[in-house]
Amino acid sequence: MSDSVSKLKSQLYDADAIGAALAIMAWDQQTYMPSGSAGARGEHMALLHKMYHELMTSDEHGKALEEAAKTAEGEDAALVRVAKRDYEIATKLPTELVGRKTLLAAKGHEVWVEARKTNNFSLFEPILTEMFDIAREEAELFGYKDHIYDALLDNYEEGATHADAKAMFDELKGPQSRLVKQISELPETDDSFLYGTFSEAKQSELTHRIISDIGFDLNRGRQDTAPHPFCTGWSITDVRLTTRYKDYLMSSVMGSMHEAGHGMYEQGSPLKWDRLPLSGGVSLGIHESQSRFWENVVGRSKGFWSVYLPELKSAFPQIGNVSIDQFYKALNKVKPSLIRVEADELTYNLHVMIRFELESDLLTGAIRVRDLPEAWNAKYSEYLGITPPDDSTGCLQDVHWSGGMIGYFPTYSMGNLLSYQFWAALKKDIPEAEELIGKGQFKEIHGWLKDKIYSKGKEFTPKELVMKVTGKSISAKDYLEGITKKYAELYELEPALR
Ligand code: ZN
Repeated sequence: MSDSVSKLKSQLYDADAIGAALAIMAWDQQTYMPSGSAGARGEHMALLHKMYHELMTSDEHGKALEEAAKTAEGEDAALVRVAKRDYEIATKLPTELVGRKTLLAAKGHEVWVEARKTNNFSLFEPILTEMFDIAREEAELFGYKDHIYDALLDNYEEGATHADAKAMFDELKGPQSRLVKQISELPETDDSFLYGTFSEAKQSELTHRIISDIGFDLNRGRQDTAPHPFCTGWSITDVRLTTRYKDYLMSSVMGSMHEAGHGMYEQGSPLKWDRLPLSGGVSLGIHESQSRFWENVVGRSKGFWSVYLPELKSAFPQIGNVSIDQFYKALNKVKPSLIRVEADELTYNLHVMIRFELESDLLTGAIRVRDLPEAWNAKYSEYLGITPPDDSTGCLQDVHWSGGMIGYFPTYSMGNLLSYQFWAALKKDIPEAEELIGKGQFKEIHGWLKDKIYSKGKEFTPKELVMKVTGKSISAKDYLEGITKKYAELYELEPALR
C-alpha cells in the first residue's frame, strides 16, 4: 500500500471513530436513553457532528484524496472513489446553506408534528415551500444534466436519474394497479386472528430465533425495541436492529426480518474493510432490496411458514388452529389503504409512485405547494381508488419532506423490484431455493447473497452491481412476474385476468 493511501486511511479511521460515537449515541437515543437526557445528548452530538464535518471537509482531507488517487489501484481505487464522492457531497454545499437547512428541518419537524396532529396543512405550507426552495438551491449546486430531480436522487442512489425512476414507475403502473383493482373487488380476507395482545417475551424469543436462523449473527449484533424499527451499526462486528411489539402480531416478525435483511448486508462486508467507507451497503435501493428480500420473498412465502407456523401457534395459542393456507392468505392480505408504512406488498409501490410524481412536480414548479393536498388526493383516488378524508392521513403523513429528504422515495420501490430481480438470479444458481426455504434451510441462500452482494460493499456503483449480479439493469420484469404469479394463485384469479 502506498504512503498516500495509508495517509488517507488514517484520516478515514479518525473520522470513523467520531461517526461511530455519533451512531452509538443515536441508537441509544431511540432505545435506552432516559427522556430527561435529551438536552445533554443533543449538545454532545452537535459538537461531535461539527468535528466530524470539519475532518471530512478539511483541505488536508481533500489533498490526501488527490494524492491517493494518483497511485491507488484495485480496491484502493474503489476506496478513493467512494471517499471522494462523500467529500464532494459534503463540500459542494456552502456552510450557510447547510446551517439554514438544519434549522429549517428542526423547526419543520416540530411544525409537521403539530400540523399532522391538528390536521392543519396551512401551518406546514410555508415550511414546505421553503424546503422545496432549498432543495432547488441544493440541486443547482450539486449540478445535473437533464432533470433537476437527478441531482437530489443521486444523493441517495448514485447514478439514478428522474428518467430511470419514471421508466420504472411507467412499467409498474398499469399491471400493478390492475392487479390491486381485481383483488379489491373480491371479498376481504380475514386476518383478524393476527390481532390481539401477544406476550412480548415470546415475540422477542421467536424473532430472535428467526433472525438467527436466517443468518443474522447475534455475536456481532443484537436486537432491541424502539418505536420505529431500524438498523444501524458502527462496525461489521457490531450491527444493531430494533423491532416493535404491536397489536398486530406480524408487525414484530416482519419488522425483525426486514431489519435483519439490512443487518446481514452490513455484517457481510469483508472484515479488512471494517471502519472504512468501502464497507456496508452501496445505496438505499440496494439496501432496501436486501431487507425486502427477507421480509417479502422469504418471510411472506408459504414454504417459510410451513416451518414456523407450528411454532407461532404454540407460542401464541390465541391465534387458534389456523391452517397454513388461511395463515398464508392472511399474511399476504391486499387492501388499498391510505398510509404508506402500513401498506401491503402489492399496494406499496403505488404509494411511492404518488410521492415521486408529486415531489418532481413540486420541484419543477408544475404544481404549487399550496395545491399539494388537492393533487395528493386526486392521485390516491386515481391509483388506489380511495380518497383521504383529511390531510393528516393524506399529504401530511410522511416525515421525509419536513426534514428535507426530497428525492428519497423512489429508492423504496427500487428495493422492491430488485428483491425479485436478485431472487430470479439466485434461483438460476440454486434451482432448489424454494424447497430449501420450505425446509427451514437458509445457509445456501444467505451464502449466495453474501458472495454476490454483501461482500462487495461499495466496491462497485449500484448500477454496476445490479448488472454484475443479474446480467441486466434494474427492471420491473421479475418483480411483476413474481407478484402476478403469487397473487393470482393466492386470490384464485381467472387465468385470463392474470
Ligand atoms: Zn428498510
